[in-house]
Amino acid sequence: MNETYDVVVVGGGIAGCFAAATAAAKGADVAQLERKSRERGGYIACGDAMKSPRDPKNYPGPIDMAAIAEDRSVFVNDGIDRIEWWDEELDVRKSLPYSNGSNVIDRYEFGQRLLEETAELGVTQHYDTVVNGVTRNGRVTGVEAMCDGKPVRYDCSVVIDAAGAQSLLQDMVPFDTLDTPGEPTFEVPHYTHFGSAYREIIETEKPVAYHDAIIGKPLEEMGYIWYFPRSPTLINVGLGFQMNKPAIPLVDRLRRDIEDRPEYQNARVVEKFGTGNKIGSSIALRRPLDSMVAPGYLAAGGAAATTHPITGKGIRGAAFSGYSAGRAAALAIEDGDVSEAGLWEHNRWLYRDHGEAAKLAAWDAYNVAASAIEVNVLRALTALLPEQELREIVGTKREADGFRSTLSLATGVLRNFVSESRAGTFETLGVGRSEVYESVIGLKKTRDYVAEYEQLYEGYPSDPSDFDGWLRDRNHLDERFYDALELSSAERKY
Ligand SMILES: Cc1cc2nc3c(=O)[nH]c(=O)nc-3n(C[C@H](O)[C@H](O)[C@H](O)COP(=O)(O)OP(=O)(O)OC[C@H]3O[C@@H](n4cnc5c(N)ncnc54)[C@H](O)[C@@H]3O)c2cc1C
Repeated sequence: MNETYDVVVVGGGIAGCFAAATAAAKGADVAQLERKSRERGGYIACGDAMKSPRDPKNYPGPIDMAAIAEDRSVFVNDGIDRIEWWDEELDVRKSLPYSNGSNVIDRYEFGQRLLEETAELGVTQHYDTVVNGVTRNGRVTGVEAMCDGKPVRYDCSVVIDAAGAQSLLQDMVPFDTLDTPGEPTFEVPHYTHFGSAYREIIETEKPVAYHDAIIGKPLEEMGYIWYFPRSPTLINVGLGFQMNKPAIPLVDRLRRDIEDRPEYQNARVVEKFGTGNKIGSSIALRRPLDSMVAPGYLAAGGAAATTHPITGKGIRGAAFSGYSAGRAAALAIEDGDVSEAGLWEHNRWLYRDHGEAAKLAAWDAYNVAASAIEVNVLRALTALLPEQELREIVGTKREADGFRSTLSLATGVLRNFVSESRAGTFETLGVGRSEVYESVIGLKKTRDYVAEYEQLYEGYPSDPSDFDGWLRDRNHLDERFYDALELSSAERKY
């Protein structure tokens, strides 16, 4: 059997819905393929924390987020106004603002609403459909799938890969055999650029005190544990680690963390995600792909790594990159050009017009720098850094000028260090003061490089013919940054 559409979107998650809905609203004939059943659609492992649904920059396109935002079965806790960082061993609690109107959601209900809205916009949805091949003829021309146990070929002008982090489609497309004027620009990510994460939902006997905050705590080897309250008694708890670090037994480690907490005594596990060997779910912890475009093919969401490279939050990135892919596909079909150049608008819009991909790419420098620091030094640094500096790092401020000089940064750290409550930090963690001061200097250097990356990504090429030159400059900046951090070749992320 074969079916023909303008656009085939693989994936019924957030990126897939935003992409399919946008392309359909722009007049394309769109099919969306999802391996799960209609009833299970939208069900996915997630911490469920998301930025305000009311900001159209976060969630552009035809999906009516304002209407979904009114749905109390989706936006179950819209009172979140801050992120707290707890390092309990050091008796440290830091509080940072989280943008107004942010939420902990019911991800399944959210996923279901998105799928409904996408169908209402005219998208043909095929559930129980597992894509297991890609067809090509100089460009990607469609996909092959098993649909309810029967093989089906879906032909189209553009395939949008919204199959999530570590998308299998990227193993199926031989990018170097497609017709491009030079080397293909599409960047295939490496598995060490991903993390593995696990979550449960637990119900406590009594309300927790932090129902209006999302909580993060340090975990060995560049990971973190979270408590994200859906309500005062229903908490999404989970943890994740980066795959370039030794694996952590996720379920046991989570149990060990929560079993001694007074507020979780007698808590009931309401929901677990994953069974058997399939416990951890993949999450992109890298910068967005250098290019998300190939002839007849676009990647969005987890498949394009539009995730925050430090926190792993990717709902918003999946929404705006899905929108961008749907828009670029429809425009290219209208122009009759689905070549790499014809689809380039996806890269251009994300990096230049919308600009959020450029910010994510720049912030990845913090991930690189933090990975190079021993975890206890990182904890000491986080404990001793004034909150203002932490805000600059995880916040949205772009101007490097706003970041203090190394001297005032070190003074702030010193002030916290001499304050009586922090005096034991170095001893507790067994780290030397000089190591922490060196990492303060490394942090300041990194902030300066973040500013350079931001500037470079603002000049992302509008046309693929300028991509090679831009990439050379970017790779050169990587080299200078890695040299400044004195990273060995094995420690270099890209
Ligand atoms: C444990 C965990 C906690 C997280 N917590 C947060 C958080 O609190 N806040 C936040 O913003 N982000 C969080 N994230 C990240 C966020 O969930 C992802 O960035 C986001 O889901 C990416 O959306 P997506 O649409 O790109 O991919 P996905 O949501 O992964 O959707 C991909 C879809 O494609 C389907 N699919 C895959 N392969 C095929 C195939 N071959 N054939 C057919 N269908 C296929 C899948 O079934 C799935 O439905 C978390 C991730 C994890 C793993």
